[in-house]
Amino acid sequence: MSSVVVYNLVKTYAGGDRRATDGVSLEVADGEFLVLVGPSGCGKTTLLRMVAGLETPDSGTVSIGGRDVTYLPPRQRGLSMVFQSYAIFPHMKVRQNIGFGLTMRKVPRDEFDRRVKRAAELLHLEEYLDRYPAQLSGGQRQRVAVARAIVVDAAVLLMDEPLSNLDALLRLQFRAELKRIVGQLGTTTLYVTHDQAEAMSLGDRVAVMRDGRVAQLGAPLAVYDRPADRFVGGFLGSPPMNFLTARVGGGALAVGDASLQAPDHLSTWEGRDVVVGVRAENIQVATEPAAGWVPARIEVVEPTGAALLLTVRLADEQLKVQAPATFPAAPDARVHLRAEPAALRFYDPESGLALD
Ligand code: ATP
Repeated sequence: MSSVVVYNLVKTYAGGDRRATDGVSLEVADGEFLVLVGPSGCGKTTLLRMVAGLETPDSGTVSIGGRDVTYLPPRQRGLSMVFQSYAIFPHMKVRQNIGFGLTMRKVPRDEFDRRVKRAAELLHLEEYLDRYPAQLSGGQRQRVAVARAIVVDAAVLLMDEPLSNLDALLRLQFRAELKRIVGQLGTTTLYVTHDQAEAMSLGDRVAVMRDGRVAQLGAPLAVYDRPADRFVGGFLGSPPMNFLTARVGGGALAVGDASLQAPDHLSTWEGRDVVVGVRAENIQVATEPAAGWVPARIEVVEPTGAALLLTVRLADEQLKVQAPATFPAAPDARVHLRAEPAALRFYDPESGLALD
């Protein structure tokens, strides 16, 4: 069993004016890949470093495999780590770099060779074992850092922005490789990124953090589909979720002159404003009017290749709408919009929390 349980972790740095983590609790199940994601400064790295044993919390506990490790040094926690500044040793060949943890553990020669070979195979590094890091590309060096972390077969793998030094294309390729490798190994993994697409792609579950707290934790698609608050909806997804203000009245939602059917649970909001959240891909667009469709005007047309991203104006609100690549879109053109009622989310305009 190698679950990681973090309970009510609070950390304030000396000289820090607020809590870097403000009572975070979460559990990474045995064999699970959990991603911590959130904007810069939200406390992801601090949380990971407390799990690693590189920072001591002010209060709260960290348990690994059912054992309280809160005050144990990193090497006694049974984990391995890959960091953004992957420190591979320039004077060592790839073979010795990958096997570094095995050398430290005085693993016998034949076992060293076997395990380094397996890690190199998993990361497609077999042909580079006798090279020095300077003779590798950035992506290959990054793979060496990951191979070195997995070769020791630690129960828990911690990764902090391991792809951030790679260019966009390599990043995408390596992301898929990492998913394959960690899936194959089944290692319990806690992974930090500020990149929401990376989080969605890699995580069995994602924990979206904000201001030292977990705003929402769940399966990527569940969190994407039902953000618990406006912050999460605005953070996950590219483009972010659209939010528009609507007045509830007589069973309808008014956005400017347009009217939508209001769900029953909004009846307590009669006469007040709510915020409607809707994803760009959940808005249909047509050139011709039809009953129940809402008129809008195109402001910007951005082809993405697979689709068109339209910026449209609806009353006082600006929305992002995803249209088929073949849609005849032009700036200033009038269009008509609709969304399935089931695709609409509702938020409290004051607290930003979901109403459904
Ligand atoms: P990023 O994505 O930018 O790395 P993060 O979400 O990992 O951000 P942390 O590095 O955990 O965030 O930082 C959380 C908060 O703690 C920030 O306000 C940061 O300024 C502060 N902080 C982090 N490290 C220290 C430190 N060594 N001393 C003082 N304050 C720190």
